Amino acid sequence: MMEIINFNNRYWDHVKLASKEYKEKTVVDVRGVKIGGDKPIVIAGNCSVESRVITKITAKTVKENSGHILRGGVFKSRTSPRSSKNQNKEKLILLKEIGNEFNLPIITEVTQVNQIDFVKKYADIIQIGTRSMRNTELLKEVSKTKKPILLKRGFDATIEEWLLSAEAIMLEGNEKIILCERGIRTYEPSTRNTLDISAIPMIKQISHLPIIIDPSHATGRRNLVSPLAKAGIVAGADGIMVEIHPEPEKSITDGFQSLDFNDFISLMNDIKTLTKR
Ligand code: PEP
Ligand code: MN
Repeated sequence: MMEIINFNNRYWDHVKLASKEYKEKTVVDVRGVKIGGDKPIVIAGNCSVESRVITKITAKTVKENSGHILRGGVFKSRTSPRSSKNQNKEKLILLKEIGNEFNLPIITEVTQVNQIDFVKKYADIIQIGTRSMRNTELLKEVSKTKKPILLKRGFDATIEEWLLSAEAIMLEGNEKIILCERGIRTYEPSTRNTLDISAIPMIKQISHLPIIIDPSHATGRRNLVSPLAKAGIVAGADGIMVEIHPEPEKSITDGFQSLDFNDFISLMNDIKTLTKR
């Protein structure tokens, strides 16, 4: 790692368990879906879990188009308190039920320690959102569940800081971590964030952990999601996570960045061509 990094930063030497020196490669197995294996995986679904009908047609579309994992937010931290939607625990039970029906593992976020006991009963992957990456108490407690953890990069975090958060999870004994680059804040206002594509090969060189990208939250714009998803895969990402919705304009959250089903299907076809599956 020493040759690769500019050591103006102080804590690179603290990245031990998350570094390539500890291990060459980690493949996270989520009920048979291998993240970090030979083929990029696709996580797709609604931003927030909505009605049974919407969840069901979304899961069906994900499954029929070779997606691997179903996403849906229940406990979410939002930028604006006015954009928060009250969600309840039943939404997670619904997501799990529909995931089982279509044989899709599910991923959902936790934002607080007191949600973990409930969420771990249902989620196959527990997501740590961008605003929680630095919450070390949450990282420690979520590690103890022994569940696979998707660790999103803080929108203001360096790669060093991000890997230190992965280190915090690993220090508590859980090595099933998937990193997720979801865009960082730059001076460019025309996109919600800026997807740091270079983080993909960088992580590949310095860490054994799988890395996926989230072009939905990175761009905040539906028409930029597919090009960046493909760019991420070409750059070596182990997968993508995208928000989709049957009627994006009616989505309760993040509709402007959700793909409709036609766009999702053409993205999946493009990915098949790219990866020659
Ligand atoms: C999400 O994936 O639902 C989400 C809120 O993402 P982020 O934490 O990256 O903003
Ligand atoms: Mn969202």
